[in-house]
Amino acid sequence: MKKDKKFTTSSGIPVENDLSSITAGNKGPVLLQDVHLLEKLAHFTRERIPERVVHAKGAGAFGYFEVTDDLSRYTCASFLSEVGKRTEVFARFSTVGGEKGSADTERDPRGFAVKFYTEEGNFDMVGNNTPVFFIRDAMKFPDFIHTQKRDPETNLKDPDMFWDFLSLTPESIHQVTILFSDRGTPKGHRHMNGYGGHAYMWYNEKGDYNWVKLHFKTEQGIVNFTGEDAGMMRGIDPDFSTRDLFESIAGGNFPSWSVEVQIMTPKQAEGFRFDPFDVTKVWPHGEYPMIKLGRMVLDRNPENYFADVEQAAFSPGNLVPGMGPSFDRMFQARIFAYPDTHRHRLGANYHLIPVNQPRGLKVSNYQRDGSMRVDGNGGPGPNYWPNSFGGVDPDGSRAVPPLDVTGTAWRHEVKLSDEDFVQAGDLYRKVMDDSARENLVRNIVGHLGNAQKRIQLRQTALFWKADEEYGRRVADGLGLDVRRIGELASMSQEERVRATSDR
Ligand code: NDP
Repeated sequence: MKKDKKFTTSSGIPVENDLSSITAGNKGPVLLQDVHLLEKLAHFTRERIPERVVHAKGAGAFGYFEVTDDLSRYTCASFLSEVGKRTEVFARFSTVGGEKGSADTERDPRGFAVKFYTEEGNFDMVGNNTPVFFIRDAMKFPDFIHTQKRDPETNLKDPDMFWDFLSLTPESIHQVTILFSDRGTPKGHRHMNGYGGHAYMWYNEKGDYNWVKLHFKTEQGIVNFTGEDAGMMRGIDPDFSTRDLFESIAGGNFPSWSVEVQIMTPKQAEGFRFDPFDVTKVWPHGEYPMIKLGRMVLDRNPENYFADVEQAAFSPGNLVPGMGPSFDRMFQARIFAYPDTHRHRLGANYHLIPVNQPRGLKVSNYQRDGSMRVDGNGGPGPNYWPNSFGGVDPDGSRAVPPLDVTGTAWRHEVKLSDEDFVQAGDLYRKVMDDSARENLVRNIVGHLGNAQKRIQLRQTALFWKADEEYGRRVADGLGLDVRRIGELASMSQEERVRATSDR
């Protein structure tokens, strides 16, 4: 690397020595006047910023999204307006539950977040490598995450709390089945799909809208580790997926994804057999086929991990004109939680960090001041609106179309229903082959077998409710009384919880 710059302190003063502290005599104490030493140590002790509470371990890369098919009749998003149009993207992939230094090959969903730097601002698709989620109301989210992290007393991962919560939260059964399938341990970030998960609204220039789900299908093919190989890789190379992504891009082998959408009309949504905004369920392909939209290619590694990957801030509410949120309760809550964590982790002006800045447009509003405001802070211009001094005005011309919503303000519970078990059962019965089913059962038995017996019984009854054979095979693997599991499966969730209580 060419050395064309001088070594200076943060104030630009030349550093004449970076080896020895200034001391009073050869054997004497260090002097407070050694500004370079003080600054070096003080900065070092502040190097760590708060770790993301979830998705702490991640890797990312830049690239582009290219429109391959014209869907502009559904959305007026200008980055989707014509075939061939390219938009710069930054993608970050991650595990969920582990700390920043944890192993990449843990069994866990993977975060799959993409920032599209469009000419109308940043659109953030903050998805996962699974199309569904464990819960459908964010009220349960902090509790759920606590159970996937460490026990408050032992600071160890705890199979009891992991399965206790899931077995008391049966709507998780679909995601649990995907998590314990081979897809729970993808062979690196390049070999997995990404899903927006939530339904989005897309609307066109006329204000006609539809509901849309986004799918990113890997063009490298889905490749997974077996549970055993993933376990071994934790020891051999805990950074397997990070290394794989970086080295493949550095070697000119650019990973790519086909971007496809499912579209549901408002009328279809109203009459659908289950709530289409329930993130524990997919929209069946047979009824809502994939429609090709474009292609994402990642072709540039970040030059500095901390600058671009650690400081990347994705917000599900970052939706450009032509897109809006749906009524999905998890989506709605994430619109708050993500920017809130960025303000905590990175500060109120996190959007000024280069990786988070929109490209090719000037951000103009009346937000001012705050810690680390480094962009001129609006200069001498007005800091209020309305104003008659030439400040910017809102442009409501392409706002989200109005939606009629009525109802009673109340904590409406989404009641558990038989429908909640159908898709997990379909996945087991119709989608998986024999070897996938065998791996699924082996992975569950290996993990659930570490939980207390009463929790094993309660959870295995849920597998049975998804599919009887599925439940029987897990019960056999755990050495549980199959008849008892059948009885528990036939009970209501309240009865099942009572029957497996230790109180
Ligand atoms: P289809 O029979 O039309 O398609 C099944 C889909 O399942 C495949 O296209 C593939 O999706 C996905 N798949 C294959 N193996 C696994 C696995 N081990 N874990 C998770 N997904 C897998 O199915 P339906 O649309 O009628 O759905 C049947 C089941 O398939 C669902 O209950 C759901 O569990 C799963 N699925 C459905 C998706 C959807 O959006 N409809 C998306 C992903 C899974 P892909 O092409 O996305 O890899």
